[in-house]
Amino acid sequence: MLCRTRFAPSPTGLLHVGNAYSALLCEQWAKQHDAELLLRIEDIDHTRCKPQFIDSMIEDLQWLGLKWPEPVRVQSRHLDDYRAAIHRLRGLGVIYPCFCTRKSIQREMEHIALAPHAEDGSSLYPGICRDLSSGEQARRMERYPFAWRLDIQKALLKTNSPLHWRDDDGGMHSADIDHDVVIGRKDISFSYHLSVVVDDAIQGISHIIRGQDLEPSTGIHRLLQVLLGLPEPTYIHHKLLKTTEGERLAKRNSATTLSSLRQIGLCPEKLGAFLLNLPEPIWPFEQESDSTQDSEILRLLGNS
Ligand code: GLU
Repeated sequence: MLCRTRFAPSPTGLLHVGNAYSALLCEQWAKQHDAELLLRIEDIDHTRCKPQFIDSMIEDLQWLGLKWPEPVRVQSRHLDDYRAAIHRLRGLGVIYPCFCTRKSIQREMEHIALAPHAEDGSSLYPGICRDLSSGEQARRMERYPFAWRLDIQKALLKTNSPLHWRDDDGGMHSADIDHDVVIGRKDISFSYHLSVVVDDAIQGISHIIRGQDLEPSTGIHRLLQVLLGLPEPTYIHHKLLKTTEGERLAKRNSATTLSSLRQIGLCPEKLGAFLLNLPEPIWPFEQESDSTQDSEILRLLGNS
């Protein structure tokens, strides 16, 4: 069977060296497994994604040496696929329209003595719209904007057995999902969770290689795959490249963007080899630093 993976950046800014690290890990895995590497542009969130970043991303990835088959799947051109998935979930009776605003959820939470909270401390949705009658749902849907939420209890009942996702070493991880996740947003109609599972299935992705920051979403993806009757991929969550202070690299930090590294004369092959051989995923340069050690390493990574 042909193994296939993908690199799926969102055009919310210029690619940085952390994105390059992730892209190179996907490419390395594909080479080692004789697999195909696809590029996908995840621009479903039109409130954060900008078309001009798509071109710069492609330019940066080509500079880095990545190759992929054309045409590239661009999410915003496939809205009908996501619409069909919402339709199917509605047919299963596992999603409901939610008319709440952030404020109304917060107000409700203040009245609940033991309000449910996620591991990161953020409040979980307390189910305000879960049990509206179908008449009330229809009445409100005509008048107000709404999101689609997955009714986790109902959805889990449809899966028959406890839900797991599988990693590359054969390890099984239980898919813990503790609240009614939004899968269709008020403003952008479809959530990341929904579009990513639909795309991975349509593109025949057998192995998903992505950062550990997305690991908490994998249980939701697995649940959606089971509900929608989609194939189960294998997951590899790699460590994120961080700064020496242990912070994540951000697209807004211009010193680490690939375009600025290109401008200071870094050689893409040397940069790639350097990133893939780091003993720990730490980008050892300070922002705006002119330390001799930094200059020395940058000189070694340079074209000359
Ligand atoms: N588009 C996501 C990002 O840029 C990656 C999604 C995924 O790999 O599943 O973080």
